[in-house]
Amino acid sequence: MSNEELTSLSKSACDMITEASAVAERLARDIASVASVSKDDKSPVTVADFAVQAIVGLRLRDCPVVDMVGEEDASRLRTDDSLLQEVINAVRTTIPDAQAHDILDAIDSGNHEGGSSGRFWTLDPIDGTKGFLRGGQFALALALINEGVVEMGVLGLSHWGIDVDPSGATVRPPGSLCMAIRGSGARGWSIDRPDQAIDLKVADWNSDSTLRTCESVESGHSSHDASASIVEIFSGHEAVRLDSQTKYAVVASGAADAYLRLPTRPGYIERIWDHAAGALVATEAGAIVTDIHGRELDFSHGRGLEHNRGVICSVPGAHQRIIDRIAEIGLS
Ligand code: AMP
Ligand code: MG
Repeated sequence: MSNEELTSLSKSACDMITEASAVAERLARDIASVASVSKDDKSPVTVADFAVQAIVGLRLRDCPVVDMVGEEDASRLRTDDSLLQEVINAVRTTIPDAQAHDILDAIDSGNHEGGSSGRFWTLDPIDGTKGFLRGGQFALALALINEGVVEMGVLGLSHWGIDVDPSGATVRPPGSLCMAIRGSGARGWSIDRPDQAIDLKVADWNSDSTLRTCESVESGHSSHDASASIVEIFSGHEAVRLDSQTKYAVVASGAADAYLRLPTRPGYIERIWDHAAGALVATEAGAIVTDIHGRELDFSHGRGLEHNRGVICSVPGAHQRIIDRIAEIGLS
C-alpha cells in the first residue's frame, strides 16, 4: 500500500472516529436513558455500540476499502423495533438522512471474516462497554489490516486526555484521538484541538524505577491476582485500572510503563478489534507488545488472536522481565 494511500485512509479513519466519538460521548452523558441488552455471551451491548458501527459502516461506503471485521451485527435490531428506533435516532444526530435499512446493512457490513489476505478494517465501536455503562472509560477503535498486518490504527478515547492523570478520574476532558501508521510513529491530540497533535512516546524507564502498570477494571478480563505476583519483583509498583484500549494509549503517552492482560480462563481467544488499533499506537510510540509468552500478536487468523494468549504491552526495559516472571509463576 502506498504512503499516499495510507495517509488518505488515515485521514478518513480519524474523521469517522471523531464524528462517531461525538455521538457516543453525547449518549454517555445521559447514560441512564441509553438502552442496553445482553448478547448471547451475556456481555452488554448498547445503542451506542450499534450507532457507532452504523456510522463507520455508512462512511466506509465512500472509502476504497469497505470490508470490515466489526464486533456487532444487526440481528437483534431486526427483531427489536424500539431498540432500532433508538439507534436510528442516535445515527441521525450526525447523518440526518440515514434510513433504517441502510443503518442495518451498514452494521452488518462488519461481518468480514478477516484473515491473512487482502485489506480490511477492524472496528470495536465501543470498547469497554461495561465501562461506558458505569460512567467509566471507553474507546472507539478502528484499524486497517493488510495481509494480516496492522498498517494503521485510530483510537477515539472518550473523556480521557493524553496530558492528564491516567485514570482520567479527576477531570472530564473532551476526549482524545490517537493515531498511528506503521513505521511513521504515533500522534495524539485532544478531540477539540486537532491542530495541536503531539508525538506519543513511551516513558524512559530503568530498573530502579517504579513500574506503573495498568489493567482491566474487570477481573474477569485480566487476572488481578496474577498481575500482583508479576509486578512484585520490581523495585516498586502502582497500578491503575481502566476499561478499554485506553490502556494502550496510557502506555504510549508515558503515563504508565506497562499494560498487563493476563488470562483468566482457559480457552479465551482475544478478539482482533480489542487490540489492533491500540497495539499499533503503543508499538509506534516505542512499546513492545506481545502475548504473555513473548510471541508477536498475529492478526492473520480471522476474528480472533488464535495463536496468542493474553497481552503484555510494556516499555522495552521491563518487557523481558515481565515475560520471564510470567514463565516463573507458571501462568498459561
Ligand atoms: P477491558 O475494557 O480491557 O476490560 O476489555 C474489554 C474487552 O474484553 C471486551 O471488548 C471483550 O471483548 C473482552 N473480553 C471479554 N471476556 C474476556 C475474557 N474472559 N478475557 C479477556 N477479555 C475478555
Ligand atoms: Mg471490546
